Amino acid sequence: MERREVLKLVSVATLMGGVLGPKNIAIAAAQTAEKAVPRNLFQELGIRTFINARGTITAMTGSLMQQEVLDAIQSGAQEFCMLDEVQDKVGEKIAAIVHSEAAVVTSGAFSALTLGLAGVLTGLDEKKVKQLPHLAGTGMKTEVICQKSHDIVYNQALTNTGCKMIMVETEAELENAINDRTALLFFLNIEADKGQINHEKWVAIGKKHGIPTMIDIAADVPPVSNLWRFNDMGFDLVCISGGKAMRGPQSAGILMGKKAIIQAARLSMPPRGFNIGRGMKVNKEEVLGMYVALEKFVNQDHDAVWKDWESRTAQVARTVESVEGITTRVFVPQLGNVTPNLEISWKPEQISLDGESLANKLRNGNPSIELGEVKANNVSLTVWMMKPGEEQIVADRLKEELLKASGKAEKTA
Ligand SMILES: *Cc1c(COP(=O)(O)O)cnc(C)c1O
Repeated sequence: MERREVLKLVSVATLMGGVLGPKNIAIAAAQTAEKAVPRNLFQELGIRTFINARGTITAMTGSLMQQEVLDAIQSGAQEFCMLDEVQDKVGEKIAAIVHSEAAVVTSGAFSALTLGLAGVLTGLDEKKVKQLPHLAGTGMKTEVICQKSHDIVYNQALTNTGCKMIMVETEAELENAINDRTALLFFLNIEADKGQINHEKWVAIGKKHGIPTMIDIAADVPPVSNLWRFNDMGFDLVCISGGKAMRGPQSAGILMGKKAIIQAARLSMPPRGFNIGRGMKVNKEEVLGMYVALEKFVNQDHDAVWKDWESRTAQVARTVESVEGITTRVFVPQLGNVTPNLEISWKPEQISLDGESLANKLRNGNPSIELGEVKANNVSLTVWMMKPGEEQIVADRLKEELLKASGKAEKTA
């Protein structure tokens, strides 16, 4: 407690002394003290916190919200309002930013996939909304087509509607696979380079057959332009995570696209019950927080942010390269999590350490640090999710362990 607060407390206590007696004064003092020192629940519950050198990983709680987002959540929590109205008003603003007809905040990209497809399947028919995920005998379509290389674990979000996935590899196979049971043509951006059919062709074939197209761009900002690129390209539905690079609430995401489909998708969302999306609730605080995070992300100076990542990455590289036998390489993934990564490698004959044990030493050190990909003779990291200054802590810890393992003193230049 600050001295000023103690004095204030004393004077309040003096004032109340005659009326309340010492016991109540003690309670009042305890309450004031409680307010002055916020609870540290991580400490209280013994939860390990760490420097995140890995990136936006769900198991590591994704990203940290910025102050403006926390403020939006805090002020959003002070009043009642209609959940639909928050989604309407925020949806309009988001749609204008991302060049789509409509948008809705979902509980992550995963639920955007499920709800978007639900909207395609049911349209505005409330009876069909209740029938999902049981499609047989309902007249609803039952198949989603995607390229074989785009079939990853998250497609569970699509099969949750009751649809089955049909895999194709060539354009001819796609044309052949389309029939009157086809609900959706699904594209996965992070594997865009692995398939034979590109974005534009995918959209064109969808339009030719009058079948909606959807793209999952969950981890595909930066670049910020991806927020509107696929809407501009003509995808009917675009799904993105809110709690990755945009640093919105970790359990939020955005479904954007055609107005009619999003209107239909919302029939499968809270506050309405009796639908497959009732458990995918997003509270008003997170809807507002998502909006503010998106706005802040779009308006930030992306070049400056990129340069900052580069210079902090270079700082780590310089520090660890002062250890004899260490080389580094910066690489930027072409698709998904497009940020600078640093690979730190060593020659096993100079440094007898495997990546896994180095990662464990950093994990078990103080402060705890979580590295990125770990191999026999190298480890990777990114400064992307680090707080300012943490890059030097990570660099120093790496250097310390690498020097120890090398059994040598620091390299003299
Ligand atoms: C992260 C991710 C998802 C899931 O996103 P959430 O926002 O966590 O629901 C879906 N698809 C891909 C490709 C992802 O990287």
